[in-house]
Amino acid sequence: MQKYILGVDIGTTSTKAGLFSLDGDMFGFAQQGYPLFQDLNGMAEQDSEQIYAAVLQVIAELSAQVSPEQIIALSFSSAMHSLIVLDQHQQPLTRCITWADNRAAAASQWLAAQPEAEELYQRTGVPNHPMTPLAKIIWLRQEQAELFAQAAYFISIKEYIFLQLFGELIVDYSIAASSGMLNLDQLAWDQAALNLAGISSKQLSQVVATTYQLTGLAESLRLKLGLSAECRFIVGSSDGCLANLGIGALDEHSVALTIGTSGALRRASKTAYLDPAARTFCYPLLDNLWIIGGPVNSGGIVLQWFYEQIYAPQTSATLGNDYTPMLAAAAQINAGSDGLFFLPYLAGERAPLWDANARGSFFGLSHQHTKEHMARAVLEGISFNLRAVLELLEIAPATSLNNIIASGGFAHSSLWCQILADIFNCEILIPESVESSCWGAALLGFYACDMVTNLSASKNLLKIGQLYTPNLANVKRYAQSYQLFSDLNQQLKPLYLKLAQSRIINTDKEQICQS
Ligand code: ADP
Repeated sequence: MQKYILGVDIGTTSTKAGLFSLDGDMFGFAQQGYPLFQDLNGMAEQDSEQIYAAVLQVIAELSAQVSPEQIIALSFSSAMHSLIVLDQHQQPLTRCITWADNRAAAASQWLAAQPEAEELYQRTGVPNHPMTPLAKIIWLRQEQAELFAQAAYFISIKEYIFLQLFGELIVDYSIAASSGMLNLDQLAWDQAALNLAGISSKQLSQVVATTYQLTGLAESLRLKLGLSAECRFIVGSSDGCLANLGIGALDEHSVALTIGTSGALRRASKTAYLDPAARTFCYPLLDNLWIIGGPVNSGGIVLQWFYEQIYAPQTSATLGNDYTPMLAAAAQINAGSDGLFFLPYLAGERAPLWDANARGSFFGLSHQHTKEHMARAVLEGISFNLRAVLELLEIAPATSLNNIIASGGFAHSSLWCQILADIFNCEILIPESVESSCWGAALLGFYACDMVTNLSASKNLLKIGQLYTPNLANVKRYAQSYQLFSDLNQQLKPLYLKLAQSRIINTDKEQICQS
């Protein structure tokens, strides 16, 4: 009888689940979406109950495809940085405040000004940012005193799901670390961070390993979900960490690159690594396995902006976005866009700048440049910025990189993939399957159930869809362009602050200092 583990990935726009066998084959897939509420400026919330219903639905949908005994475990992935406030009866006082919510910007600035702030990163591994639950809790304390007074517990969306399923408040140490309040040496809540938040550890969940498991779901729920009494629930990890596991980027020579709406670069390390300038994150995945990386705002959303606002606004408004003609035309332009540069910071930037005031610009425009040059410069600018993030990871600790395993909407474009291979001077591998976090969760489940002992061997299961190798002529040209791109970043740094301070910007609309 074939045995499966069901990997569940609780994402920002939907929950996805895959039924996987030990060799990585996906037998079934289910997905259930839910809305993001953005009623107020900076708000990005979700309904926790809708997410719980989505989780139950995808489980039931997949379990119906096999017999209950075939599913030996469920294992969970979720987006990082979410916050749900519960009252003393463990009832929600807020919706799920997601990573994309910006309302803690002032709290994050307040945090940066505290004397303890500098060493906080060195203990928790998370750069100070409005997305972190730590900043969000401070925001609630400072600006919503009534709510804060009633708050008994602060949890994330995965903790909420486990609370509904088992009545227990537990959190895996990856998700706990993404709150900005976990001490990485002790893998326990950090007292100084809690002091800054103004809460106690009793208000947070019990921190457990990512392989921690529970059984004994209430019978009525278990039958409704079509699971056996022996089926284990593995707490799992975060989507970013599990994506590295899912694509086999676990050695120090492989990097996982994602470019969707935003983007990130992540690599594994046997030891925790903390950047002296607090520019990278560091999350525990397993004993002696850490995921370090840098998240960027400037991902696919920048190309989308260029297409909708500059390249084809009318087509976009009437027919939607089809990037194919634009990318085909941009492919005809020389590497380096004939001296045109684009700094992609439309919404400030996280890694590597960590500057909420950064803004975008074209540099080097001349009469010879066309819209197609601009399109290519946009792709190159997003990619140069990611190269700067990669440099932070390569020195952490010094290593040589063999390949980059990439995923996300950008991978539809062979031009963009080739530009990345040339700018990074490194092979870019695109896996066949895009559900890397679901598979990563399932693989962690097999490991937790002692059915896999060597996770590094998972790399052999990766099925490569496409491979891009660097074009040496372009590598040379981009090496020079990258130097100028870095110089521009240096030169513009002080000007971003001046720009933000100037009255040119409408602060209500633009939300200065919130990236
Ligand atoms: P999400 O982060 O929502 O999962 P996706 O991974 O679907 O996003 O990526 C969306 C981004 O992918 C878009 O903003 C766009 O820049 C890029 N993209 C989508 N289709 C293409 C395409 N055919 N060629 C290049 N880029 C694309």
